[in-house]
Amino acid sequence: MINLVFFGPPGSGKGTQSELLQEAFNIIQISTGEILRHEIALKTPLGKEVEDIISRGDLVSDPLVAEVLKKALAEKMSQGNGFIFDGFPRNENQAKILEEILTSLNLELSLVINLKVKEEELIKRLLIRGEIEKRSDDNPETIKNRLKIYETESGSVINFYKNKLFELSGEGSPDEIFNRLSDTINKL
Ligand code: AMP
Repeated sequence: MINLVFFGPPGSGKGTQSELLQEAFNIIQISTGEILRHEIALKTPLGKEVEDIISRGDLVSDPLVAEVLKKALAEKMSQGNGFIFDGFPRNENQAKILEEILTSLNLELSLVINLKVKEEELIKRLLIRGEIEKRSDDNPETIKNRLKIYETESGSVINFYKNKLFELSGEGSPDEIFNRLSDTINKL
């Protein structure tokens, strides 16, 4: 069983790499952002509650997103060889919440991957994605806010995980990055 946290700024490729890993290693991806976007598309009460927050690029409250995570875990338990947490935790409190949830399920994190990409490249990628996917939060104003929040919160999360942290350059082609990642995971 392998349980991974994918950490990194918006646009670093967490989602892309999580999907590739899910396919190759049968580890189940849980993307809190994707779940929330799905709720918005379905116009559920949760979707309506988070729609404006996500459009502004702010973070959804910790208790709300923790509930989303718990529900996804319960649904996907025993479907694969472990979990990839993509986009959770986003701050130190969420990292503590994740520890509690995993402990209660008798699970343990194997590795925290920190994907590093320089800001100029992130902005470029997010603007291109905004045009293609029409995401409400991939526009210049919102991108600035999301990157600022990442800057503010990332240090404490990285410090929280310092014993499990694996830093990886997220620059280059998705295949190149995936090969580097697979080497690391194969060594676990
Ligand atoms: P993402 O797809 O991971 O970039 O997430 C898109 C948006 O969903 C974020 O900008 C937040 O508004 C919200 N979101 C996703 N995951 C979290 C989280 N762990 N905590 C708070 N908000 C989140």
